[in-house]
Amino acid sequence: MLKRSLLVLLVPSLALAGCKKIEEEPLVLPEIAAPELSVETMKAVTEELSSDAFEGRAPGTPGEEKTLALLTAKFEAAGIEPGNGESWFQDVPLVSIEAQNVSPLTVTGGSEDMSFAYGSEMVVTSYQEQPKIDVADSDMVFVGYGVNAPERGWNDYADVDVKGKTVVILVNDPDFGTDNLEGEFGGRAMTYYGRWTYKYEEAARQGAAAALIIHDTAPAAYGWNVVESSWSGPQFYAQSANGGADQTKINGWIQKDVAAKIFAAAGQDLDAQMIAAKKKGFKAVDLGLKASSSFENTISKMDSKNVVGVLKGKTRPDEYVIYTAHWDHLGRCKPAPDGDDICNGAVDNATGTAALVALAEAHVKAGAPDRSIVFLAVTAEESGLLGSKYYADNPIYPLGQTVGGVNMDAFGMAGPAKNVIVVGKGKSDLDRYLDAALTGDGRVSEAEPTPEKGFYYRSDHFSFAKQGVPMIYFEGGEDLVEGGREAGEAVGKDYTENRYHGPKDEYDPNWNWDGVMGDLKVYFTVARMLAMTEDWPNWNEGDEFRAARDKSRAGD
Ligand SMILES: [Zn+2]
Repeated sequence: MLKRSLLVLLVPSLALAGCKKIEEEPLVLPEIAAPELSVETMKAVTEELSSDAFEGRAPGTPGEEKTLALLTAKFEAAGIEPGNGESWFQDVPLVSIEAQNVSPLTVTGGSEDMSFAYGSEMVVTSYQEQPKIDVADSDMVFVGYGVNAPERGWNDYADVDVKGKTVVILVNDPDFGTDNLEGEFGGRAMTYYGRWTYKYEEAARQGAAAALIIHDTAPAAYGWNVVESSWSGPQFYAQSANGGADQTKINGWIQKDVAAKIFAAAGQDLDAQMIAAKKKGFKAVDLGLKASSSFENTISKMDSKNVVGVLKGKTRPDEYVIYTAHWDHLGRCKPAPDGDDICNGAVDNATGTAALVALAEAHVKAGAPDRSIVFLAVTAEESGLLGSKYYADNPIYPLGQTVGGVNMDAFGMAGPAKNVIVVGKGKSDLDRYLDAALTGDGRVSEAEPTPEKGFYYRSDHFSFAKQGVPMIYFEGGEDLVEGGREAGEAVGKDYTENRYHGPKDEYDPNWNWDGVMGDLKVYFTVARMLAMTEDWPNWNEGDEFRAARDKSRAGD
């Protein structure tokens, strides 16, 4: 059913991306026969997971129970085995904290006292497991991008003590807005320092009482609507021994025009400060204002679950290739004007979850591969990659024995495309597998056009990459077979503006699945090649994740 003839590729990609060129050696990859992928499975599973009955698949809700039951039934029917001993599940201990009775954010001490409404002007949440959160008259300090990066000689917290204070932080990193990939922070490509997760982590390390990020659509890469829907309602965190005592009391976002008013009341100009913050040696600015906010927390602890199945390898079953896709979504959320308050997550990520099922079916039909293939549907991606991080910290299959993997998050519904977009192209040997998988289809791989949006840090492959496992994350491109880039970009824009993380990310019976099925074939082929070769792919020379890989392969 598979291989026979061999495909020989040279190594073109290593000369790129600032990586040290190593001796060009041929990589011999097995040829993979066309898979039997079921569009009916894709449609049926996507439709059911995103139906209102699943209530948007928030962890810890009846929607989770339904999702777990559906997935295990489908995995079993596909013919794969439970992946955690006898069990299909890995418990992921989470705590849910929901802010209620949130007071407006008040700011005093400036030219005028101000009050900002929860939801439309600001959002706040707490990582601390405290029933009552109260930050009163806390000094406000603008800390630029909130970055402390000794290896780059950059510290926005230098010479300022923010203990017990409220820090106000810009989103993205100081190189945002440059048009190439050069600079302290990778040029326009976002680094991890640009992610909100990092900014809250650093503010906590500095002892701040509250951290408020200034929302700005371009550098955040999403509108205020996404902030409002994602940061209200129950928020999930990994359970910790100290109940979040080392975290800030309040983490939140403020609208950009709110920030402009606050700066004006302090006698400062937001735009000027935004420019100043981009320069090395920027000094934090005491705004001379005091912030207050309070709310109550509803706290509950639970075990959410990752779902894991395996197709055992026949010659090297203790070497693993992994597929990841997050099953969770936002649950009940801010209602649309028509009153619809279920964020169904049809594209994001019922499609990727359905793909795990369709791929399991196809790999079983193709026969047992040499290496084992793991199908991992993770929880709590939307809450900060919590399920994949938990797996990577507590792996069922040793990471040193995990050959590499493929992450799937949100299939494009625009129709067949001539290209695929690789998020993180030029990072690992897996680019060669992808290019080999694409050759027969006449498609090409391209680097993501908007590295400033930080997509590399926004889905589950990142949890594995951090631990060294080579992971590839790509999706169907916008250069459509019919209509070209213009048509593709219009579909992408409609999704980002009207559906992404909102109640209208819904199943549509009129979708054209041809593009999805073409992409699915590539996901099949890349993983199948990995499961049929003896190669151990690595990150390219000089890549940030290579050291972790070398360590885990050495068995440390
Ligand atoms: Zn997603």
